[in-house]
Amino acid sequence: MRLLLVEDDEQLARRLSDRLRGAGFAVDLARNRAEGEDWPDMDKMAAVILDLGLPDGTGMDLLRFWRARRVECPILILTARGSWQDKVEGLNAGADDFVVKPVRFEELLARLNALFRRHAGKHDPWLEEAGIRLDPVSRTALRDGESLVLSKQEFRLLQLFLRRAGQVLSQGDIIEHLYDLDSQRELNAVEVLVSRLRRKIGRDRITTLRGLGYRFER
Ligand code: CA
Repeated sequence: MRLLLVEDDEQLARRLSDRLRGAGFAVDLARNRAEGEDWPDMDKMAAVILDLGLPDGTGMDLLRFWRARRVECPILILTARGSWQDKVEGLNAGADDFVVKPVRFEELLARLNALFRRHAGKHDPWLEEAGIRLDPVSRTALRDGESLVLSKQEFRLLQLFLRRAGQVLSQGDIIEHLYDLDSQRELNAVEVLVSRLRRKIGRDRITTLRGLGYRFER
């Protein structure tokens, strides 16, 4: 799943994006309001983490800009400004959650996952399809009740398949969700990853549709 982090504090941005990648997300980084306004592929974002104090404007303006353009993904404000007035303004402008810095990474991650569940209209933290269960919070996965040992990328891919079970995912869709803008995007890597995952979860759970992509069977 792909996140956009809007943060001008370079150190914080690096630390946070490292940890988010470690938790299985692909992370894009925008450093100011102008970059945020011009960011391509906003419809591919699973969520945005938005700082309010930006060098060329406020995150609040950026939030309004996106909402006015029907950007519908969850947006979590992460800010040092924590007055109740700021929270009210942020939530009224279309933010889904509001977290005051400093925050423990575990709390941020739990809040993000809660946003995904709410966004998907689900309340069960587990994703479950066809005998595969996956918990994005504890990062565990089970196949027919047996624990699965997955690499970080395999976990990311399985999570994507479960969230989009029954739908065709092209190699491009998979690359968009698994890799950062600046990392290598080789189609071959997707094939290799899918075949590794198939060995672990059972071949027949993922169907290859020639020229189209892959489908996780429900
Ligand atoms: Ca800032």
